Amino acid sequence: MSELVTSHLDFIRTIVAQDLAAGKNDGRLVTRFPPEPNGYLHIGHAKSICLNFGLAQEYPQGICHMRFDDTNPEKEDVEYTESILADVKWLGFDWGANLFYASDYFDKLYDYALQLIKMDKAYVCSLNAEEMRAYRGTLKEPGKNSPYRDRSVAENLALFEDMKNGKFSDGEHVLRAKIDMASPNINMRDPIIYRIRKVSHHRTGDRWCIYPMYDYTHCLSDAMEKITHSLCTLEFADHRPLYDWVLDTLQTPCHPQQIEFARLNLNFTVMSKRKLMQLVNEKRVGGWDDPRMLTISGLRRRGYTPASIRNFCAEIGLAKRESRIDMGVLENAIRNDLNDSAPRRQAVLKPLKVVISNYPEEKEEELEIGNHPKDPNMGTRMIPFCREIYIDHDDFMEEPPKKFFRLSPGREVRLRAAYFITCDEVIKDKSGAVVELRCSYDPASRGGSSPDGRKVKGTLHWVSARHALDGEIRLYDRLFNKENPEDDPDVDFKENLNPDSLQILPHCKLEPSLLEASVHDYFQFERVGFFKLDSKESAPGKPVFNRTVTLRDTWAKLSDT
Ligand code: ATP
Ligand code: MG
Repeated sequence: MSELVTSHLDFIRTIVAQDLAAGKNDGRLVTRFPPEPNGYLHIGHAKSICLNFGLAQEYPQGICHMRFDDTNPEKEDVEYTESILADVKWLGFDWGANLFYASDYFDKLYDYALQLIKMDKAYVCSLNAEEMRAYRGTLKEPGKNSPYRDRSVAENLALFEDMKNGKFSDGEHVLRAKIDMASPNINMRDPIIYRIRKVSHHRTGDRWCIYPMYDYTHCLSDAMEKITHSLCTLEFADHRPLYDWVLDTLQTPCHPQQIEFARLNLNFTVMSKRKLMQLVNEKRVGGWDDPRMLTISGLRRRGYTPASIRNFCAEIGLAKRESRIDMGVLENAIRNDLNDSAPRRQAVLKPLKVVISNYPEEKEEELEIGNHPKDPNMGTRMIPFCREIYIDHDDFMEEPPKKFFRLSPGREVRLRAAYFITCDEVIKDKSGAVVELRCSYDPASRGGSSPDGRKVKGTLHWVSARHALDGEIRLYDRLFNKENPEDDPDVDFKENLNPDSLQILPHCKLEPSLLEASVHDYFQFERVGFFKLDSKESAPGKPVFNRTVTLRDTWAKLSDT
């Protein structure tokens, strides 16, 4: 047999490759992605999705289960379930028939709890929350046994059944695993495995008023689904002994291996659903899918592609130690993807009217322009040209500094794919603001090529004033203005929100072909950035475009094209 080479693999893929080579788990590979439906998925979840679904795709026998960890009825909702499924699909993954809900296991989990009680490995405890805390001990001090720890099996069975039948109110009793109150690991100090919650569940309705706890549910769900590798984030490392204790004690037919990896942290953002929820509920953002949010739905609306997110996750890799990734890495991932794939369009964000005095008043023509500078397969399109056009205000300066190669009085520049124009006159309003330029064009430079070898340094984008489509453009900046918005425990993270994270430009001028843009299209507006039609707030004939990301380089790079 040839030797297994794993040097190109991350530590989890190495373990999986070795397990499969050794014939462990009968050669099966089953992973799962187990979100709790209590919010929308964020970019951190994408890391886990790409790992679990991606790993399964890498082997012919690999399977990844989609499982909702829905044991916390107060916080869960079908809206979240649906958004999570849509997001995973959009990212490009498919669970096939393997869609599961922990709530489907409530009967089995209850039976397992009865087994634990009968084995004298679980008991009903009647301490209140405060007493429970006092008995639990601290990191330095061991806990104390609950006075209810020695209840008989019969008494525990009767009480647990009464709990299930709704005879008690919330918090009156809990079911605890009987492990070790002196364990150095607090998770092993007789953890609660069932609690009373008299609330409806979004899937099981009022059938249950006791709900199993996460640590108890998760390992048993994994075992029942015959998961082979249960991949989770580092904070669960301390829970692994409990994961293993439950499965060993109950002798489940299958004992998945829990492996922890570092969660994704990004700078200039917060990542926990709880905090994202605060931003939504307090209306600090427009919703879970606000394009500034690093939720999957926010990124989608902003214009990120599924491939860019998958590529980002592949690039950051997997580690066993926490780190913070620079937001620039994510921004680069979308830039790289769209740079190759997004067709180019012309849009003027801050319109300044230019009248071309020597261009006939009635004349209109169509000029051919390429859809992509490097990819001729993307073809060309025709854009209209006439006597009045718009250029961007930022492309004109009356008194230009040295390295400003764009338009200024007396200067000649190229209008991309159109003509050379020279600025003859600057028209101002009463306050002295520039409101219009009068220029003349060289008819011999049609298509933007030099008629006699003379060079111009600047190439500007433009839109025909007569044909332009009016549109709104939204520019986004990072949502927080602090690298780690959560670093000071005395300051609410929301104090660090960036007040300038959204800039709305309501009066932009777009080339008319953008009238046909759909929410599935991705564009580069030449010299400006990458943009996508807003899926929510665009109306027919009134498009709203979101800036996905800026171009790495602005005008300087294109000035010689
Ligand atoms: P949050 O802290 O944002 O509420 P969570 O871990 O409570 O996240 P779950 O719905 O329980 O959210 O997570 C589903 C899966 O996604 C889990 O396996 C979890 O480990 C993983 N996950 C969540 N956040 C991250 C992250 N930042 N990086 C990598 N994986 C993550
Ligand atoms: Mg969670």
